Amino acid sequence: MSWSMDRIKGVSHFPVNALRNLWEAPLLVLGYHRIANFETDPFGITVTPEAFRRQLVWLAENFDVIGAEDIMKPRRRPAIMLTFDDGYSDNVTGALPVLHQMRLPALLFLATGYVNRKREFLWDALERILSDGNAGRRAPLVYRGIRLLPEPGRNWMDTFDRLWDLLQAMSPSAQARALREISGKAGVPARPRPSHRIMSLGEVRSWASTPGMSVGGHTRSHFILAGRPPASQRSEVRGSYLDLRRWGLESPYFAYPNGQYDQASILALKDSGYRFAFTTRSCAVRRSTSPWELPRMLVGSWTLGDFKGYVRRAFVRGWR
Ligand SMILES: [Zn+2]
Repeated sequence: MSWSMDRIKGVSHFPVNALRNLWEAPLLVLGYHRIANFETDPFGITVTPEAFRRQLVWLAENFDVIGAEDIMKPRRRPAIMLTFDDGYSDNVTGALPVLHQMRLPALLFLATGYVNRKREFLWDALERILSDGNAGRRAPLVYRGIRLLPEPGRNWMDTFDRLWDLLQAMSPSAQARALREISGKAGVPARPRPSHRIMSLGEVRSWASTPGMSVGGHTRSHFILAGRPPASQRSEVRGSYLDLRRWGLESPYFAYPNGQYDQASILALKDSGYRFAFTTRSCAVRRSTSPWELPRMLVGSWTLGDFKGYVRRAFVRGWR
């Protein structure tokens, strides 16, 4: 289904859902990625700490902000749940102090295989290589027959999309090999940036030990599940569950990487130990919502005015 079809379908539900909301208080789950001050934000996933605080103040004034353990409990008024994806260390340095100060709960979804490793997420590593002004200067960067850099008249984002399609279909170990090869050909050292650091286990523990904060899984290697062999899906999903358990952080909550899943993913989830799985459909959770397909609105680098509008509209948007 295309984005525009989703939008038309969603908008047509506005009046029906506005009525439903009168007798069944809905829940809107928000998905954040990074809380940091940044000069560039190519993927539009970063919210500054100041903007984040202003969003929370408005949310707390207008809604009940609930913790993950209350997700299936009946609600008297519309509620918000805060979640964070991936495990960037700025969630501990940028978001946690604000959340703690405002006494608001939040749930963090970890790609457990990245914790305590000194490397960047695949998309960040590709961005670092492709946006480097020196990349491909010595010799054209060609990978698997595709001339990636320099490409006259094209933005590095175009080449990013082509590489991403190629790499995300690979196994995690093949991805790591591909990244080393591309990095070497581009002449850009594979040095992770402190600004793109992923949490250490100590940081995960300091998040989890703060009152109101909980942790869930997001596969081990940020594995895009949809369309992949069922055995690989099971191993990535169950693997993340076992990592959390080994750290003493066993959890019923999971979020599909990039919101992408299929029937095999749901079966893998049901066998894994997890009991709730979150998508990235921008609408509200209602009593009839399946716990394996809980909708969630991802928050981008928006103005406060846009944020309020998107939140209000998501409460009345429908999907089915
Ligand atoms: Zn993710």
